[in-house]
Amino acid sequence: MITLKEALTKSKEEIATLRVELEAKAKESGLNAYIGFESSGEGVPILIKDNIQVEGWSVTSGSKILQGYIAPYEATAITNLKANGMMAYGRSNMDEFAMGSTTESSYYGVTKNPYGTDRVPGGSSGGSAAAVASGIAIAALGSDTGGSIRQPAAYCGCVGFKPTYGRVSRFGLGAYASSLDQIGPITQNVEDAAILYDAIAGHDPKDSTSSQSECVSIAQNLNANRKLTIAVIDNYISEASESIQKAYANTVKALEDAGHTIVHKNMQNTKYDIATYYIVATAEAATNLARFDGIRYGRRAEGKNLQELYFNSRSEGFGDEVKRRILLGNFVLSSGYYDAYYLKAQKVRHLIRDEFTAIFDEVDLILSPVAPSVAPKIGSIHDPLEMYKSDMYTIAINLAGLPALSLPVAKDDEGMPIGLQLIGKAFDEQTLFDGSLSLEQAINYIK
Ligand code: GLN
Repeated sequence: MITLKEALTKSKEEIATLRVELEAKAKESGLNAYIGFESSGEGVPILIKDNIQVEGWSVTSGSKILQGYIAPYEATAITNLKANGMMAYGRSNMDEFAMGSTTESSYYGVTKNPYGTDRVPGGSSGGSAAAVASGIAIAALGSDTGGSIRQPAAYCGCVGFKPTYGRVSRFGLGAYASSLDQIGPITQNVEDAAILYDAIAGHDPKDSTSSQSECVSIAQNLNANRKLTIAVIDNYISEASESIQKAYANTVKALEDAGHTIVHKNMQNTKYDIATYYIVATAEAATNLARFDGIRYGRRAEGKNLQELYFNSRSEGFGDEVKRRILLGNFVLSSGYYDAYYLKAQKVRHLIRDEFTAIFDEVDLILSPVAPSVAPKIGSIHDPLEMYKSDMYTIAINLAGLPALSLPVAKDDEGMPIGLQLIGKAFDEQTLFDGSLSLEQAINYIK
């Protein structure tokens, strides 16, 4: 598959031919990565997760409740793509409302991992990652609330980047947890991620949380020769599988050999990451999803009166995981428990952020695993808590609003990709990309 950088140099005719080839290849692949083929305008085709609005396209967030809903306006990220020689092309599969780590909860069925079709591609942007990894998309957009770009990228051996909170407009992104959500690229390599990120980033008056701070082109200033100070979090790593620990140790060595300085740190609050995230995220999700009542958007169920219509629409329209999170979110926000859970979680969120800030006073980047294991088998995770635990390395980054990039560094004995992430300082995407490019070159991962 040609890279995004190469594709941007092709003629209109070559791109049109490529689009036809991509569609045919995707249909043959049997991965269920695409849930629809649509295209909008001219340019290099970019696969779009099913929770990002493209005007006139169906957008369902992988949910039955949004069947039939057509986006009445366009996400700013899509408008920005078009202004930079790209176009929205095709819908990728995802966990329902971006809640999940496996892309098994979609109304459209499970997406498969191209490295082993009995394995999940990760989630929630699993369709985007599986498509890029299998050469049926040049590059894709995903969204990351607690790891949903980085983790599927790691499971599928591609690059996934979650920008600093506020860098990419959330206007037109289906809200899961508004204080955590960011749109970002899933690509074949680090440079393509920088190109796609440059295209979609920037201030947007339509998103009040969008940052006013200046966005300078990352791709044009990429420099793999900077020597950086990189922290490794020693107490973080012991819960990862043996193969991940081995890949981590080799990566630390490769970074040292490339001239970077490694410093060893510990983080005290990591044990609170999962609880804090699942309180904040579900509270915001319960609030955001209250709008899906069967009246305003998408699918409407039968009902003798308004109460029954709401009840039936939500009961039939939402899947189990989404219902579980709405219940949990309403519980932690209820007057009796608000102080004990939601307020406490907000305080702990500050502690988590402060701990990152203290480490970043001394270092440029932090290296961490993305997930504690490689992609699990389809259908193997039955306990929701077990699934939540697999987010242990990604969610703190969203709670702290930091940028992080996941890239493949090795494969395990069964040939499954292992990804690690570099975490950067807020709004210092340049250093993060420079370090990531250096690591990509030092590791020379073979697909
Ligand atoms: N797996 C996490 C969750 O289910 C993260 C999802 C995401 O980033 N959208 O909440």
